[in-house]
Amino acid sequence: MTTRYQAVAVDERGMFDLNLDGAPLPPHHLVVVAEAEEHVEDGVTTLIALPRVVAILDTGVPLDENAPALEALLDAHGWKLTGEGDGYPDEDLHEVTPADPDAAPAAVEYREGRPLAYYLAGRARLDENGSLHDALLVATFTAAQAEGAAHGLDVTGIELLLISAVRAAVDDRLTAEGCDLDTADTACKQRLVVTACDAIGKALDIIRQRETCRTCDGRAVTCTMDGQPVCANSGHYA
Ligand SMILES: [Zn+2]
Repeated sequence: MTTRYQAVAVDERGMFDLNLDGAPLPPHHLVVVAEAEEHVEDGVTTLIALPRVVAILDTGVPLDENAPALEALLDAHGWKLTGEGDGYPDEDLHEVTPADPDAAPAAVEYREGRPLAYYLAGRARLDENGSLHDALLVATFTAAQAEGAAHGLDVTGIELLLISAVRAAVDDRLTAEGCDLDTADTACKQRLVVTACDAIGKALDIIRQRETCRTCDGRAVTCTMDGQPVCANSGHYA
């Protein structure tokens, strides 16, 4: 399935605090490109932008001045408007596609205008010493610590699951890019951190979906007649 994207015009201060590299954003008109999800209601399909950001474009125009044209800005950053024409700034949501579909970047998950803490930690470490290995370790560790012991797993168990998810995602990406870690340049390493953090987010979602026994903290292996999760201890079934 093809990923769909929306460009969202942001003309309010503080809606987006930090860019994908963790740097503070200036009080300018911004255009956020995010993954979007189809939503069907009464037979009508609409697109809803997700908090999965692939780019934040700075128009360079202060908020107290008029918003600049959107198309040229998108074009300069490798994005094309699709569908209806450029109604910006009247319309602040537009579907866009990457000019080069093979170069579509992986998304960074945002909460409250900033990337998640584990992504910021990994990205900061990469910027600091250029080591992808360090960056992935820091991101994984930060995510596991923040998640804490839960869902029938301790922190180490969660960390191990995250490490394997990260490894698989990074290996896949390196194969797709046709390079290995020794020859990866800075931009490639930055994309790998994004890819790895996306894998961390997905792994955490899966871990959170693991159900625990209704009686103890044990991992559920079955459920009762009325659908309550229970562990292997038959005493907890009754
Ligand atoms: Zn139990």
